[in-house]
Amino acid sequence: MARLRKGDEVEVLSGKERSKRGTVMRVLPKEGRVIVEGVNVAKKHQRQTKARVQGGIIDKDMPIRVDSVALVCPKDGAVRVGFTYKTEGERRSKVRICRTCGREL
Ligand SMILES: [Zn+2]
Repeated sequence: MARLRKGDEVEVLSGKERSKRGTVMRVLPKEGRVIVEGVNVAKKHQRQTKARVQGGIIDKDMPIRVDSVALVCPKDGAVRVGFTYKTEGERRSKVRICRTCGREL
């Protein structure tokens, strides 16, 4: 089970964008990176095409290392993630929890 998934709110832990928060747009497990909305934005020059009438500069969110971000717990902020098992009737599923307060994330 992945520590992070699409839609998670994360906080940047290191680098010049430290403490910045954003939503995970994509997880790239093979590269060990995630793309976070509004974090590590690069200005890309885009050529004009038939499909894209307007050329020019666009903002592109570049992948960052998964270990440089932390999941945000609504109560504690940036936290370490743990895992536990939850039993609902017959079903037993693995869930992520906040290592600080224990709530399911
Ligand atoms: Zn918590």
